[in-house]
Amino acid sequence: MDADVVIVGGGFAGLSAAQRAAELGLRALVLEQGAQADYACNSRVTGGIVHFAREGMMEPTAVLVDKAMQMTGGELNRELLAAMAGEARRCIEWLRAQGMKFVRIGPQLHYEWVLAPVRVARPGLEASGWKGRAGDTLLRLLTANFTRRGGQLLLDSRVTGLVFEDGRCIGVEATTQGRPTQYRAPAVVMADGGFQADDELVRRFISPHPEKLLRRNAGSGRGDALKMMEHAGARLVGTKYFYGHLHSRDALNNASLWPYPALDSLAVAGIVVNGRGERFADEGLGGVYLANAIAWSEDPLDTWVIFDEDIWRGPGKGELFFIAANSRLVDAKGTIFKADTLEALESAAGFPSGRLRASVDAHNAALAAGQTGAMQPPRSSGVNRPIAIRSKPFYAVPMCAGLTFTMGGAAVDSGLRVLKGDNSPIPGLYAVGKSLGGLEGGAPAGYVGGISLPVITGLRAAEAIAQANGKVA
Ligand SMILES: Cc1cc2nc3c(=O)[nH]c(=O)nc-3n(C[C@H](O)[C@H](O)[C@H](O)COP(=O)(O)OP(=O)(O)OC[C@H]3O[C@@H](n4cnc5c(N)ncnc54)[C@H](O)[C@@H]3O)c2cc1C
Repeated sequence: MDADVVIVGGGFAGLSAAQRAAELGLRALVLEQGAQADYACNSRVTGGIVHFAREGMMEPTAVLVDKAMQMTGGELNRELLAAMAGEARRCIEWLRAQGMKFVRIGPQLHYEWVLAPVRVARPGLEASGWKGRAGDTLLRLLTANFTRRGGQLLLDSRVTGLVFEDGRCIGVEATTQGRPTQYRAPAVVMADGGFQADDELVRRFISPHPEKLLRRNAGSGRGDALKMMEHAGARLVGTKYFYGHLHSRDALNNASLWPYPALDSLAVAGIVVNGRGERFADEGLGGVYLANAIAWSEDPLDTWVIFDEDIWRGPGKGELFFIAANSRLVDAKGTIFKADTLEALESAAGFPSGRLRASVDAHNAALAAGQTGAMQPPRSSGVNRPIAIRSKPFYAVPMCAGLTFTMGGAAVDSGLRVLKGDNSPIPGLYAVGKSLGGLEGGAPAGYVGGISLPVITGLRAAEAIAQANGKVA
């Protein structure tokens, strides 16, 4: 055997599993497809906000579970979620023990634990935004700690297949520095980061038009793990949903408009319409849900956010996601239509006459009557408070959906063992981070944890493997 555990992917999930395995006395080998020391992955360029279901990491487990269940429409396995939520505090404590520093960036509890130094909002994935900061710092720390304990991170190693013997996964096939190689271990952990960068998988599971979505990600998650696990008989769950944000449509050709600013706060205060001027989704469910609804719609590039001057000067100024739409959208030359009447706005932006006016009137009337839930489609209210659209000038901004990471993947148990259709585990095979499904999503596309879940699942997988190996966790 080459190691006690082989880990596919060197993001937060893979390196947390590797470092925890090394702490427990296991020989861990990480295979990473990137060839450079600062290989691209979502962990490298992350915004760094560590939360669980947009709650603080020190909140009681029951609070985290209730919030996650509510955000995901109650569709997920409560027991599995509770097992992960119960590790939120430990996730922060373990990261601190690795030498990671945190900073609080806002009064809300979910801004309490942000990876330091904080990422800077620079255009696209420019290194000056992330180098030596947030995710890059954490990846370097985990790598240093893990290799100091004798672990091995092999770059330029893309895993292409799983090796089985008597129904048990006992290793992987990879191409390392151009050469096909086999690596053997009694446990294999899939940590490839999702399938957001594979157009065929996105087309199969999310949208018939992957080319019309903004790739708001590092481009490294190509669904290799999902394909290998499906081939091995894994049950897939939640593959329809993704985490992402709303962006100016110009972001498709203008890197200054992503990954920040997001237009989420404008959209959840105003209305989101298609090119006919009709609402088609519940804005009250938030920006992540709206990005999903746009991807599922018949034409993901025919979507607009409509708002007024009060919203532009209020939520538009909110510093959500590091940089506010007002004024970055203007500074970066994103398209904005603006007019003193809704009729003039319709004509300037090319909407059919009277349709925008009808949608705005319906929004304002439902709001005044406290009946937004009766609209078609209904508009839920809660944290995402709608605002009446009546103060000129009125605005129309063409939008697109930004795809950051996919939420679905292989079904797992609380020890992160990959499950088959009959719910029995595939011996020797584990999935962590964004390679697994069932911890996020549901009809409202609830976002539970971009960073917390990869770290927590990495820790738990390593501990389950150590236990199976006779090393007490
Ligand atoms: C711009 C941006 C901002 C974000 N902001 C936040 C935030 O503020 N808060 C938050 O919670 N989340 C945020 N996220 C999400 C979060 O960063 C990710 O969910 C997290 O980093 C995923 O970790 P991972 O280890 O599962 O995947 P990744 O970091 O993607 O790592 C997977 C690794 O596997 C490697 N790999 C893939 N296939 C193979 C293969 N076949 N063989 C070998 N290696 C392979 C890849 O090269 C990659 O290095 C953000 C993401 C982005 C892109």
